[in-house]
Amino acid sequence: MQFADFCGNTALKEALSTAFSRRGLPHALVLEGESGLGKRTLARILARAMVCRGAPDGAPCERCPSCVRSAAGSHPDVRVIAGSGASGQISAESVDRVIADAYRKPEEADCRVYVFHAADGLSDAAQNRLLKLIEEPPPGVHFLFCVPSAEVLLPTVRSRAQIFTLRAVPVEEAARYAVQKAGMELEEAARLAVLHGGNIGRMLEEGGEGRSAKAAALADAVAEALVGGTEHELLKAAAPMLRDRPLAAETAGRLKRLFRDACVLKDGAKAETLAKEGPALRLARTATEKQLFALLETAEKAENAALRNANTALLVTWFCGRMRGALGK
Ligand SMILES: [Zn+2]
Repeated sequence: MQFADFCGNTALKEALSTAFSRRGLPHALVLEGESGLGKRTLARILARAMVCRGAPDGAPCERCPSCVRSAAGSHPDVRVIAGSGASGQISAESVDRVIADAYRKPEEADCRVYVFHAADGLSDAAQNRLLKLIEEPPPGVHFLFCVPSAEVLLPTVRSRAQIFTLRAVPVEEAARYAVQKAGMELEEAARLAVLHGGNIGRMLEEGGEGRSAKAAALADAVAEALVGGTEHELLKAAAPMLRDRPLAAETAGRLKRLFRDACVLKDGAKAETLAKEGPALRLARTATEKQLFALLETAEKAENAALRNANTALLVTWFCGRMRGALGK
């Protein structure tokens, strides 16, 4: 079995791999661990492996139609059951649908997989309703329960399932992952890896949130410098984008939305009364519609280029020049 980008957890991966190659994956499997450790990612990998049409030791192959559909969430034999509302409760109807569905024959694969995301949203009553199915599952039916701790499941359910505990990844490996797969800055990745003890999900969450806030402030500063500053002031304002491609992409995306807002504001005085004073409003007052559309188009190109791995230094210089050009500066 292949675990692609799923880091660490070597012993757990070996155990699953061995069971899988003997076609001996338990029919009820509990993946336990704190949030951010990758329970859902692992559950998705397991589900894809089970329905994969490629060679078993290469499963999930990520290429066959079954893998592709499973990854897109449209494989008929893989069902994900998630809770709803603030409580994350999994409804009795969802549970009843699973019970009715599990006795039907698979549609494409030779098994059916039910993944319960945040299975702590299953009430005791719901677990009791599932119990019979878990005790005597129809052939080829598998249940994956993702939980912070197996203790949230009733002892009767727990005792019929095999429990796998996910652990944080060694700090260096987690940092490497964040740099190579999520485009995080090396220094930031190292800091967050230590801070979160190798919990990749939490690292990415904080890295992403930090970047969003940075990009929002940066986009405002760039737009201000575009409206009222010199060429040098614009380049200076955009400088933080130079060495940080994910930040450059996100900032360009925010500028795109800002220019779009300006287009909307340009369109009617009514919208103007709703907008807060800021660069979008100033642009709407000073630029022509044609100029605003040119800005919008430029920001869109810059965002796409940054997402595609362009040289950010060249990109930022080009972007600033084109934005000023759009305003006839
Ligand atoms: Zn496949």
